[in-house]
Amino acid sequence: MSEFEAGSVWLVGAGPGDPDLLTRKAERLIRAASVLFHDALVGPRVLDLVPPHVRLVSVGKRSGRHSKDQKSIDRLIVEAALAGERVVRLKGGDPAIFGRATEELDACRAAGVPVRICPGITAASAAAAGLGASLTLRGLARKLTFVTAHARAGEALDLDWAALADPQATLAIYMGKKAAPEVAKNLLGHGLSPDTPIALVENASLPQERRLRTTLGLLPLTARSALGDGPALILIGEALRDRGEVVNRYSENSLTRREGSRT
Ligand code: SAH
Repeated sequence: MSEFEAGSVWLVGAGPGDPDLLTRKAERLIRAASVLFHDALVGPRVLDLVPPHVRLVSVGKRSGRHSKDQKSIDRLIVEAALAGERVVRLKGGDPAIFGRATEELDACRAAGVPVRICPGITAASAAAAGLGASLTLRGLARKLTFVTAHARAGEALDLDWAALADPQATLAIYMGKKAAPEVAKNLLGHGLSPDTPIALVENASLPQERRLRTTLGLLPLTARSALGDGPALILIGEALRDRGEVVNRYSENSLTRREGSRT
């Protein structure tokens, strides 16, 4: 079986935005596609890699601005495959993390369309890289939880707060910007310390990346006042305690050394 036969679908992870963070396989599949359906989260610099012969279809969904519902997307993908296309469904980050992949996999399987997944770098990994931080910490953060704080319009967040308020865990909260006050209130209410370190990373891996450090007690204020309208990740836990910007310190050192050697 070839990697990409006509009439099949690949769910491809586009990574967090920086085109250098695409896998080589993702890039190969993108070039081999005949049609590519992408989300709003997939940035322009990744789409620049799509060759002109590939038909590009935006099926973007950003919260509050749904352009296509999930069922229509499932149908579009299946119909394209049944028409003999080589279909890439390009999704931000990793397709298997908060990416509605199951719906699309099921739709393909139900229609007898071969479908496979090419993983991608998820936003939490890119955010940690930007911070120069590890998401786990020996002895102190033995557990890493990926959780979404996106609720359906008008509904309260239905999460197991008692389990999430674990001082030995790192929480990576996706789609959590709007719900930040509710997240803070519930974690504090279940005993997590207001001093728990938090990092907010907006537009991770992109030129406009912003990193903010705060604490659980100050999270509502920081999320409200300091974030723009790019996608943002909330990282919570002891692993996120600020240990200084190692990267900057090293580059300052080498700069000092170079200047020193000139005199
Ligand atoms: N499948 C994606 C997640 C989709 S859910 C992945 O694996 O990364 C969308 C949420 O992901 C956003 O609301 C935001 O919380 C997060 N996200 C995606 N890209 C991001 C980026 N470049 N920087 C920060 N957060 C990002």
